[in-house]
Amino acid sequence: MTSTKYKRVLLKLSGASFSGKVGHGIDTDTLTVIATQIKRVIEMKVGIAVVVGGGNIWRGATAEQKGMDRVTADYAGMLATVINALALQDALEKVGVPTRTQSAIGIQQVAELYIRRRAIRHLEKGRAVIFAGGTGNPYMTTDTTAALRAVEIEAEVLLMAKNNVDGIYSADPHRDSNAKKLNKVSHLEALNRRLNVMDTTAFSLCLENNLPIVVFDLQAPRSIERAVLGENIGTIVSSE
Ligand code: UDP
Repeated sequence: MTSTKYKRVLLKLSGASFSGKVGHGIDTDTLTVIATQIKRVIEMKVGIAVVVGGGNIWRGATAEQKGMDRVTADYAGMLATVINALALQDALEKVGVPTRTQSAIGIQQVAELYIRRRAIRHLEKGRAVIFAGGTGNPYMTTDTTAALRAVEIEAEVLLMAKNNVDGIYSADPHRDSNAKKLNKVSHLEALNRRLNVMDTTAFSLCLENNLPIVVFDLQAPRSIERAVLGENIGTIVSSE
């Protein structure tokens, strides 16, 4: 059997990952590709939990700018992540992966409530676990959820799947032609150089808990499997 670098991982899929090339909503073909990769990760005997974003459907901050109450808008955002979670759950089950969705907000007809010990049990049984509903609190992001859940379930790494960027750069590669891709960077260096890996709440959770982060391009072939195998894909943020 192929030897993997990690035995338990947390994958963060932003809402943009769900819309694929279509650019909005949910693209089922894209989800099938992602689900097939997750299946192979489980076949490698690696526990994988997924935190899903919701930005393809709704963003609280954007709705606030248009005049909506922020807390209500954020709850709508959390519900958007539940929609994505159900779509991913369906895609996973279609390719034969037993899956459980746990939500941070009560929605018992469609998902289990988030219970850490139960989530770990599902992983031990070889099920994929999807975390929906963000942290369950407004003013938070699903990046923060990903860092939090990763630490809670004792994942060895946080896999940050990106769209249209293949790692962390010294500057914004879309704006600065001198921007260089970094293969490896420490948490402190990323903080001091303001490398913008994720929002500050999410990043400080990773820093304080010494959680490695791999930032990689989801569109690259077999990207999730390769990240799990520890191949040199994207950028690793690690204090090792
Ligand atoms: N959200 C929230 N609390 C959380 C996670 C998410 O209020 O703990 C809301 C927030 O409004 C956010 C939306 O859900 O804009 C979608 O999440 P996010 O923007 O993180 O999704 P992504 O950028 O990953 O697609």
